Amino acid sequence: MPYAIDETHDPKLKSWVEGANDPQSDFPIQNLPLCIPSGDEFGAVLPACTRIGDFLLDLEVLSDAGILFEHCCCGPNWNDFGSWELEHRLALRKRLVELLKADQPELRDHVALRQRALIPISGLELEVPFYSQDYTDFYASLYHATNVGSMFRPDNPLLPNYKHIPIGYHGRASSIVASGTRIRRPVGQQAPAEDGGTPGFGPCKLLDYEMEMGLVVGRGNELGEPISIENAEDHMLGMCILNDWSARDLQKWEYVPLGPFLAKNFASTVSPYIVTMEALAPFRCQAMERDASDPQPLPYMDSDANRKAGGIDIKVEVHLASAKMREQGIEPVHLSTGNFKDMYWTLAQMLTHHTVNGCNLQPGDLLGSGTISGTARDARGSMLELTWDGDPFAAPPVVVPGTQRTPIVLPTGEERKFLADGDEVIMKAYCEREGYRRIGFGECRGIIEPAQEL
Ligand code: MN
Repeated sequence: MPYAIDETHDPKLKSWVEGANDPQSDFPIQNLPLCIPSGDEFGAVLPACTRIGDFLLDLEVLSDAGILFEHCCCGPNWNDFGSWELEHRLALRKRLVELLKADQPELRDHVALRQRALIPISGLELEVPFYSQDYTDFYASLYHATNVGSMFRPDNPLLPNYKHIPIGYHGRASSIVASGTRIRRPVGQQAPAEDGGTPGFGPCKLLDYEMEMGLVVGRGNELGEPISIENAEDHMLGMCILNDWSARDLQKWEYVPLGPFLAKNFASTVSPYIVTMEALAPFRCQAMERDASDPQPLPYMDSDANRKAGGIDIKVEVHLASAKMREQGIEPVHLSTGNFKDMYWTLAQMLTHHTVNGCNLQPGDLLGSGTISGTARDARGSMLELTWDGDPFAAPPVVVPGTQRTPIVLPTGEERKFLADGDEVIMKAYCEREGYRRIGFGECRGIIEPAQEL
């Protein structure tokens, strides 16, 4: 595993920057995620920044002042940085920790420079911090796949390929949007009411979210040159939260036989920070243990390092607020909490499999994990699963999955089986481990707007 725990993960490290030592902050000195602010005040080229406490730190200002080594400037996004050798990435992280740690006067006491470099986060909007030329979405949660399969094929929830091959499809990079972007309800075709009938057409009636994590590719690979499982981690830059908005009625009608298309490509929202693989080092864990009766992965997707540390312990939460709740000042309600360590396939396996045929990944490409669900009801990462009555994991004896939908009741008395116009979905993710400082991914938000008039 190339990402080691070092002095930058020391839980005793504090910073002189306001807000960084707040135990609730997602952004202590141990995190230092990569981001890009938006706004006219920054000129034509937006600066590459990191987040610390309640501030962004403009790395280009520091670089121009000679306080950070050269070539750190990599705007308008972090793609170039992804191609850096790991030792240079680590050197940047160590230098930033040195500048920001408590009792370190170099930047703190250089008032003019500090004032230019530290930008209060309050009121700022952030861009998507990477530029994806391609986006792939996987389906790596066995629990999600089993839930969804149980609804449509109760007797045969998992297709025979699932435990042998990471299932995925090519998504749409052009509709990856930043947190806070409003999401227009898609319009499309829906399955005919009866076989052979005319399909419906109109605004999506079954609009859903999917709680996922995204991997941002760092270094790419040449066409025709697969990335081995041993080298897969070297090609990772970091991770963000991903909401793979899904139009279930459109999906159900169109997905046979080539997979999702317009049900997924109208928008995918990402959180505005890349939490680096370096920062995630303390939270690595073993890959999900396979059942004794499960097939082992083929050798090209198997390694000791991947078994021992291919997983990452990341808690993921979904919250919802309707327009009425916001009007009445009611806090968003918690819908679910899952964990990324419960994925059947690791990031390294997905990345390796993606390139085994010679497919070339490029810096900034986004690989979605697939919906993160667990066995518990409140660990289901989509509304499709949350409002469904079945429970394929209740055993023994196996409960025959139901087909009923139980709505979620909001504090206003409103009911939801799927998303309504005005609903805001808020996703959060964070890593916690005894003996280490908690770090977070920030938030991934989106409000549903009514469909365009037909
Ligand atoms: Mn998905």
